[in-house]
Amino acid sequence: MSGVADWESAPSLIDGAMTAELTAADCGVAYWLGAVPQGTLRGHVYGHGPEAVTPAFMREPGPLNEALTQELAFRSIAEDKATRALGHLVALAPDTASMEFYATQLIDEARHAMVFRTHMEELTRTPPDVSADREKILVPLEEFGLRALRDRRDFIGGVIILTVLVEGVLAPAAELSERKWRPLDPAAADVERGAGIDEIRHLVVGSSIAREHLLARPDERPRLLELIEDGHRLWATLPTQDMVYRRELLFQEGLRAHAGLVGDYEIWPGRRLADTTPEERLETALEWSGRMQRTRLDYMGLSSGGTT
Ligand code: FE
Ligand code: FE
Repeated sequence: MSGVADWESAPSLIDGAMTAELTAADCGVAYWLGAVPQGTLRGHVYGHGPEAVTPAFMREPGPLNEALTQELAFRSIAEDKATRALGHLVALAPDTASMEFYATQLIDEARHAMVFRTHMEELTRTPPDVSADREKILVPLEEFGLRALRDRRDFIGGVIILTVLVEGVLAPAAELSERKWRPLDPAAADVERGAGIDEIRHLVVGSSIAREHLLARPDERPRLLELIEDGHRLWATLPTQDMVYRRELLFQEGLRAHAGLVGDYEIWPGRRLADTTPEERLETALEWSGRMQRTRLDYMGLSSGGTT
């Protein structure tokens, strides 16, 4: 279990989120203090160590700088909103184990917002304007979450929205980000890596809380399936893929200009980053996302096709 939060030996986000098993009782405040501040984050307060250096060209205005600062700005706002929403989960938690776990997740998400923002500020003095993406993507998602958490005081509904719809769908984009920035900005890749290690815990424990709830309350299944369906319907109306594609096009432009530096680096086994296209990267992240969601929903007992 300890390896899941270890900087060197933790699995990738997608692998970890599909294979690790941890419960809220495993991941209380005492576990977190040892595994995260004294583990994952030792020497990485701002998300990367001194050995991970951002090359000078990344700070110059241009497509790579634009792609990365837009991504970091957007992600920082998403993490800020997640932190605030988690305040409701802490307040609604039905027992000490889940209260402690969500208190630690709240700090994790506040840290993610801080490291994404800090790295963005290292790359530019003029933060990019991502207000349109914020209004079209993050605000509707936030409102959907708050209707459950704040208005209906629905703890388990909030857990599912966060685990299945928000983190489960955003996680593959985070994994893609770590892999594609690795040769161009090692500091950014490490910031992503650290957040990804936390994300494994969030996804795995959130799924376990939902699973335990459904084992105790099988009558809740139809209601929670409907909530997931509503969430998927909302998700389908959000221009998330457009935003990601826009950033991938900028990335592609920069990738061509720095092909020499990227060399034979493989974004995933057997595939050179330099040979990938924006479409291919986008589709791969979507494929990871679908695979991960199916695995986690099966585990929770919420795969819609099943008859369990
Ligand atoms: Fe996060
Ligand atoms: Fe998270």
